[in-house]
Amino acid sequence: MVLAASGDSDFFGALHDFFGSGTWPVFRNLAIFLLVVFWLAVGYWVYKDARRRIEDPWLVGAATVLGLVPPFIGALIYMLFRPPEYLEDVRERELEIKAMEESLGRGGQQHCPVCRAEIDENFLVCPVCTTRLRQSCVSCKAPLEPLWQVCPYCETPIASPAPIHFPPLETPRRETGSE
Ligand SMILES: [Zn+2]
Ligand SMILES: [Zn+2]
Repeated sequence: MVLAASGDSDFFGALHDFFGSGTWPVFRNLAIFLLVVFWLAVGYWVYKDARRRIEDPWLVGAATVLGLVPPFIGALIYMLFRPPEYLEDVRERELEIKAMEESLGRGGQQHCPVCRAEIDENFLVCPVCTTRLRQSCVSCKAPLEPLWQVCPYCETPIASPAPIHFPPLETPRRETGSE
């Protein structure tokens, strides 16, 4: 009993010595300093992250203030409500959609089924790999649509209803032999 009491007082004595000595203020100041540094770093991270996700500078400022003001908790709140995508990703996707719309609007830039070179709608053969793309009229040489039964330019009936069969992709060179 007496021993235990003296042990307790020893412990508190040591504690008192620790807080009374010069070590404690240094330790406490260091902890506060680290906390402030960490707090500012979190605020800076929120600012950087918000700039990558939010276009409006006022909203970026508001997000930064939120990242700082309820310390640490504000950053968590920001992470819950921040836009899910980076601006550059959004921009990239918009560009892709625009490019897709443009290619659709132009009636679709056509590509050779064999070598993927860009081809004009009226090409008879691919200029790159010489794959036959369309039949031409026997009398006026106009390029013909696959479904046409008669040449619309010179009224020549199209004898074989010109089924365009593209060579399969595995054997791209076969068509050149039949020319
Ligand atoms: Zn080609
Ligand atoms: Zn014709």
